[in-house]
Amino acid sequence: MKIAVIGAGSAGLAALRQCTSGTYDTEVVCYEKTDQVGGTWVYREETGLDRYGLPIHTSMYKNLRTNLPKEVMGYPDYPVSDTPESYLTRTQILNFLNSYCDHFNLRQRIRFLHNVELVEPSTRDRKWEVKVKDLTRNTISVDTFDAVMVCNGHYFEPSMPDLKGQMVFKGEQLHSHNYRVPDIFVDKAVVVLGAGPSGMDLALDISRKAKRVYLSHHLKDPIGTVFPDNVVQKPDVKELTENGAVFKDGTNEHVDVIFYCTGYKYSFPFLSEKCGVRVDSNMVTPLWKHLVSIENPTLALVGLPFYVCAFSMFDLQVRFVLQYWSGKKDFPSKADMLREEAEELEKREKEGLRKKHFHMMGFKQGDYYDDLANTAGITPLPPVLTKLHNESSMQFLDNLVHYRETRYKIIDDYNFIQL
Ligand SMILES: Cc1cc2nc3c(=O)[nH]c(=O)nc-3n(C[C@H](O)[C@H](O)[C@H](O)COP(=O)(O)OP(=O)(O)OC[C@H]3O[C@@H](n4cnc5c(N)ncnc54)[C@H](O)[C@@H]3O)c2cc1C
Repeated sequence: MKIAVIGAGSAGLAALRQCTSGTYDTEVVCYEKTDQVGGTWVYREETGLDRYGLPIHTSMYKNLRTNLPKEVMGYPDYPVSDTPESYLTRTQILNFLNSYCDHFNLRQRIRFLHNVELVEPSTRDRKWEVKVKDLTRNTISVDTFDAVMVCNGHYFEPSMPDLKGQMVFKGEQLHSHNYRVPDIFVDKAVVVLGAGPSGMDLALDISRKAKRVYLSHHLKDPIGTVFPDNVVQKPDVKELTENGAVFKDGTNEHVDVIFYCTGYKYSFPFLSEKCGVRVDSNMVTPLWKHLVSIENPTLALVGLPFYVCAFSMFDLQVRFVLQYWSGKKDFPSKADMLREEAEELEKREKEGLRKKHFHMMGFKQGDYYDDLANTAGITPLPPVLTKLHNESSMQFLDNLVHYRETRYKIIDDYNFIQL
């Protein structure tokens, strides 16, 4: 079976690792549009377009330290090596991904500086045609594959809200995708829009330089954590004026910058309509188990779920898919897969979640991992991953400024301790 992997971030590397493990009879090629592995963990000062005219992919900022302990950030067969601290720098994670890549001899399978432009089902047989641009030679080629794993990430296409007065505001407006260093905020009054994990972390990062940070969100209750003195919580912005923002509680502040920490949209610009996958209110559909295209099951979109132990989940998803593609397992009927997706959507809607939260796992991530493992008959992920992820998320919410000082150790598949 000939498989194309799109992207050599942590998901694409997991795909390569499992495709070349010897368990499955596969031939695999990975296309990566940049010159490095690591995807979003590759820090680049530039924003906008790269030298080939393609949008810069990474959203990494200079001071980033992980928001999860290294104990839950490894791959099942390749943990992050022992360091005294649990919360690592972006450079340590990038080094880890490079060492994973070399340990399993994956680099030779990657065509760097090759941008996938189009994926579509072949009209002649049940295969896939993948159109790729060699960026250095400026040439296009089309290759044929039996199956495609899409691993292009989902933190590169900014989601921007429509705000009244956006065009009137004379200050700067910036999305977190294009944020690199806090120095640009020196002595400025900044509205940080959005209090998800990245909004909170970025409010903290820029508070070191900014004069004042207004963290604007629509959470029902104020966030309980203690922020630095120059960070003030505010409700949603009602409208922007020439030099300021009016908030929904009627307060009005003079501000220099609107900093959008409003998240990202799933985007697959290279998938033709014929692939049968669409994004509906940020739900990628129709998919079986958040992963397999129901219209064309030899197409898999790896890495969509969020608030997860990402690298381990990628590995699990890839092993899941390979069980089916290799013929060890048979896909259910299309009707059954569609029914399963509809039932999950209905269940989530009853819990008050919107379509845009369809791929959110969080505290229930363990159920998803177990479902994948049980359904495909593959080695499950240890429950301790979910437990420690949940513990770290609670610490993040309670103690934003200091939670990264905590150190953990995993004792066995079920237990961890705090050192
Ligand atoms: C700022 C930030 C902080 C984060 N912090 C954490 C954290 O602390 N802990 C954690 O677990 N997770 C964190 N994450 C989540 C992170 O996205 C995942 O951990 C993981 O790295 C995602 O990997 P990926 O391979 O799915 O995507 P990416 O890392 O985005 O990789 C996708 C790759 O595909 C390539 N590509 C895209 N389109 C094409 C194309 N058309 N042709 C060829 N190649 C293409 C890209 O160049 C890129 O190399 C963070 C994310 C961000 C943005």
